[in-house]
Amino acid sequence: FGARAPAYLDGLNAEQREAVESTEGPLLVLAGAGTGKTRVLTTRIGHILATRRARGSQILAVTFTNKAAREMKERIAKVVGATVEGMPWLGTFHSIGARILRRHAELVGLRPDFTILDTDDQIRLIKQLLSAENIDEKRWPARQFASMMDGWKNRGQLPKDVSEADAGWFANGKGKKLYTDYQARLKTLNAADFGDLLLEGIRLFKENPEILAQYHDRFRYMLVDEYQDSNTAQYLWLRLLAQSRDGKSQSNICVVGDDDQSIYGWRGAEVDNILRFEKDFPGAKVIKLERNYRSTSNILSAASHLIAHNESRLGKTLQTDVGEQGDKLAVTSVWDSEEEARQVGEEIEQFQRQGDYLNDMAILVRASFQMREFEERFITLGLNYRVIGGPRFYERREIRDALAYLRIIANPVDDLALERIINVPKRGLGDATLQIVHDTARAANIPLVAAIRDLVETEELKPKQRSTFREFLRQIDDWADRMRTIPHFELAEQVLDESGYTAMWQNDKSADAPGRLENLKELIRSMEEFENLGGFLEHIALVMDRDSGDASDDAVSIMTLHSAKGLEFDTVFLPGWEEGLFPHQRALDESGLAGLEEERRLAYVGITRARKRCRISLAQNRRIHGLWQSAIPSRFLDELPTEVVEVTDTGSSYGGYTYGGRQTTRFDARDPFDSVYETPGWQRAQRQQQSRKSPGPLTIDGDLVARSSGPSAAYDVGERVLHLKFGYGTVTATEGNKLSIDFEKAGPKKVLDSFVKRG
Ligand code: ATP
Ligand code: MG
Repeated sequence: FGARAPAYLDGLNAEQREAVESTEGPLLVLAGAGTGKTRVLTTRIGHILATRRARGSQILAVTFTNKAAREMKERIAKVVGATVEGMPWLGTFHSIGARILRRHAELVGLRPDFTILDTDDQIRLIKQLLSAENIDEKRWPARQFASMMDGWKNRGQLPKDVSEADAGWFANGKGKKLYTDYQARLKTLNAADFGDLLLEGIRLFKENPEILAQYHDRFRYMLVDEYQDSNTAQYLWLRLLAQSRDGKSQSNICVVGDDDQSIYGWRGAEVDNILRFEKDFPGAKVIKLERNYRSTSNILSAASHLIAHNESRLGKTLQTDVGEQGDKLAVTSVWDSEEEARQVGEEIEQFQRQGDYLNDMAILVRASFQMREFEERFITLGLNYRVIGGPRFYERREIRDALAYLRIIANPVDDLALERIINVPKRGLGDATLQIVHDTARAANIPLVAAIRDLVETEELKPKQRSTFREFLRQIDDWADRMRTIPHFELAEQVLDESGYTAMWQNDKSADAPGRLENLKELIRSMEEFENLGGFLEHIALVMDRDSGDASDDAVSIMTLHSAKGLEFDTVFLPGWEEGLFPHQRALDESGLAGLEEERRLAYVGITRARKRCRISLAQNRRIHGLWQSAIPSRFLDELPTEVVEVTDTGSSYGGYTYGGRQTTRFDARDPFDSVYETPGWQRAQRQQQSRKSPGPLTIDGDLVARSSGPSAAYDVGERVLHLKFGYGTVTATEGNKLSIDFEKAGPKKVLDSFVKRG
């Protein structure tokens, strides 16, 4: 380059530049938040390409999310322009794992077009295996087995590697066999689950040294971001690729990470991977970056003091380069979570008036249930928001299921709702049975519930399914009756309990089940703000209808702390700093001190996302199980140095609440949704509710939509007919759409006219 360094190196500090230019040999960049680790990785790739040390296809770069991979691609294109041929292999461990596995699928018993199973498919498959082995799914839930297998796969263990001690206790010694069968079954289905993308890759490399050698030669440069959160399987996979067989040739592997930001221990991440890097790659260079380019000194000081309370850490220094002390961290104590959302909403609008973009603001929550209150508030205010890394609150699976139950009670002709929950939790109704229900409904042009009511009075279905349906109908009728006598939020709780829906998640041992149970509680809590079920459902319909907006729109981001890793915003809101919520009780209960330290790292990640403003809040009261409980401020608040924090307490000044009692209504004149309580939609649901009780056709706004029983004009007594299942017979009596038939082979039975043809 002559005397002048290329432009992309401009502005890097000496250590960063060294990390970019030390292209040969193993390199570990260990540094705190905002020190430019990700920037170094990106620039390093650009540098390798620009200096023609390698072509794009000879570089492998691993990011933590697909989004990060996309952003890195864009930035590299900026550094090197479009002139360099071939982009690097850039993606998450999973996406790169899949790409390699597809190229050699036959060697691990798959075809290149193999399917990648999602969790639902996986569970369905495990259930089939459990039932094939006559294992009681109530005692040994499929989800529990799925999360066990997940653990094995995260540790890089194939069925043969799993010890009896590890697997034996499941289903009385059948754990290992189930894992073996599961893997075999995947191969017959030409499918792989997420864990296999690396696990089978490891097997591929181990069993086929010549293929491993190909990749070893190919990937001259390997780079990994967020290395502190890699798990054992990822580590093994990477080490295979990076270390040559004879151990002689150089591995140009560069990993960057921060032990203080290791927050996925609960998902099998091993922070030790970063600590043993120097041992695995002898001669590795270690570079520390100590200059933080992201946050003001107040924010940095708060984060550093907080994380200093952790015992197990390497210890690093961080100095701000921003050169500004900046605003103090705001800690605001509010009355409850509703006021918290109101407060945050007001501040956002205020910053917006000062010229800030919504895109530069984020709300980072500890648990996803916290999102609901913010989403509702922003909808009310007309503030654009997006939920990152997960669905919006009311679009979550457990919330949609719960809402489907409530919709069926309020509106028995809601077929979509019925379809959603008819077999959730499992009621042993197979596809064939549900097909009969659908056929019946379609033939008579009646809702599914009406079809079920007809079917249970006949012998179209097997006795077992008939009694299942009878019990289901009894339940929904019972709930509909109770709707008149008890508050709707209590009803909702009873419905979820009695239907077995709550138990389904309680028995679920997967990592996301506790979060789903929390979301369900939050749903019930939110119902208390409405006068009745109809008003609540109307509100939901309006909230759900809101169009999700354009990615390019200016919008506040709402996400969990976990998914905020690597990101940065001018203004960061950190709500819910209360004991039990943050640090989360589950982390404390399950992992003790280690759990607490991981929670503290999460707090560190949260604070260090902020460039200019960090606004922490806590509610003094939370409503749990319909009862107000006073909350204790998070211990993390005490760990922030007082000189960088400004505390505000708005809780006591806020009025309008009945403390300690149960509220069933709360009106806010400013809230446009308060006007929905008596809308035509609700009256319509009520009308339908009443018409279910009375005989005769159901009508919606005058249209005939359902006729569950009327005169059967089609068949006469004495007529010979053909039934699809029971064969020929003679009609002996008619009652509405039901026929009594004396079948020639099957004997006398009651059937539906829609299943019969003239003989
Ligand atoms: P995290 O640990 O949160 O992932 P990081 O170490 O990866 O952080 P980056 O995201 O790469 O840090 O950088 C933080 C911010 O500082 C970014 O906005 C980046 O552009 C900026 N930055 C990094 N290095 C420099 C530099 N030498 N001069 C100016 N800005 C820089
Ligand atoms: Mg980063």
